[in-house]
Amino acid sequence: MNARQIGTFRGIPVRLHWGAVAVAAVLGLLVADGVLPQLVPGQADAAYLIAGVIAGAALLVSIFIHEASHAVVARRHGVDVSSITLWFLGGVAHLEDEAPNPRAEAQIAGAGPASSLAIAVVVAAWGLAVSSVGLSLLAVTLYWVSGLNVILAVFNLLPGAPLDGGRLLHAWLWKRHGDRSRATVGAARAGRGVGLLVAAFGLFEVLTGNLGGLWTAMIGWFLYGAAGQEARSGRLSAVLSGRKIADVMAPIPPMIANWTSLRDLLGSQSDHERIVGVDFGGTVTLVSSRAEIARAAARAVAGKQTPERLRDLPLPEPVEVDIAEPASAILRHPGRPIVVTQDSQPVGIVTSSDVERIVAVHHLATDEVAA
Ligand SMILES: [Zn+2]
Repeated sequence: MNARQIGTFRGIPVRLHWGAVAVAAVLGLLVADGVLPQLVPGQADAAYLIAGVIAGAALLVSIFIHEASHAVVARRHGVDVSSITLWFLGGVAHLEDEAPNPRAEAQIAGAGPASSLAIAVVVAAWGLAVSSVGLSLLAVTLYWVSGLNVILAVFNLLPGAPLDGGRLLHAWLWKRHGDRSRATVGAARAGRGVGLLVAAFGLFEVLTGNLGGLWTAMIGWFLYGAAGQEARSGRLSAVLSGRKIADVMAPIPPMIANWTSLRDLLGSQSDHERIVGVDFGGTVTLVSSRAEIARAAARAVAGKQTPERLRDLPLPEPVEVDIAEPASAILRHPGRPIVVTQDSQPVGIVTSSDVERIVAVHHLATDEVAA
C-alpha cells in the first residue's frame, strides 16, 4: 500500500492512501450532485457543493475515528499499534501483536463499531437540532453522515475475519474452545463465506443496473482473499505453537556484500542456495535465495530496468527477531524474511521456503499419525 503519512495520533503514524481521497471525492460528488438536490431541492449549486465536501471529509474522519478507537483500546491491552492507514476499502489499524486473551480481543474489535454507532447517534442528534431551526440542507447532510456511520458499524460487524465481527467471533470461539489457532481457522472460514456473499451481492447490484455494486463486489473479493490469508496464518500458528524461533531457523550462510554484481552472483556456481547480503556497515539488508534473486532480476529486466547489483533488486526487507522469541514471531511479519539475532549478531534466517518446509513436515507427521 503506497500511503503517505499525514500526521500522528498519540505517536502512531497515520497514513492516507490516494484511493481513500478518491472514494471520498466520488462520494462527496454523488451527495452534492444526486442525493441533496433530490432531497432538498431549490438550493444554490455552491451550497450543494459545500455540503458534498463536508460529506466526503466526514467519511474520512469517520473511518479515522473508527480505527483510532481500535488503536486506543489495543494499547490499553498492551498491544502496540504500528500505524493507522486509510485506503480505498476503508481503514486499517495495524496491530503489532495478537490480543493477549479473548476478552481483550473482543474489546479491541468492538471498539470500532461502537465508536461508529456513537458518532451516528451524536451526528443524528445534531441534525435534529439543526432541522428544528430550519436549516434543512445542513440537517440532511448530517443525517447522511449519521447513516454512513451506521453502515460502517453494521458492515464491520459481519461475522467473518478479517472484519471486526470476525474478530468478535474469533474471541468467542477462542473463549469457548480455549484454542486460539482453531478459533482463527473457524473465523477465517466464516470470513470466506461473508466475502463471497458480499461479492455476490455486489454482482447482483451490477446486474440490476447499479454500477456502485462493482465497489461492493471488490470489497467482497478482497475479504475473501484476506480470510484465506487468515486461515493460512491460523494453520501456521498451530504448527508453530510451543516452538522457539531457534527450532525453525536455518543456519546463516556465508554473507556477501549487497553491492555484489548480479552477473557475477548468478553466473557462478555455488553450494549455497540461500543468499544473505550485508551493506558497508555489516547490517543484513537482504535475505533471499538464488532462485528468488534470479526471478526478481528477470522481472526488473522485463520492466525495462537494468539492475546491476544485488542491492538494486526490489526484494522485501528482512526483519530482525531475537533468538529468545517464540516461533510465532514469524506471523507478525508476513511476507518478510527474518534474520534471527543473538546479542544483535545474526545467527540464523527464516525465509518463506523454511516456513513452507515446516508446515509440510508437520502435515507429514500428523498424516502418519492419522494413518
Ligand atoms: Zn474496525
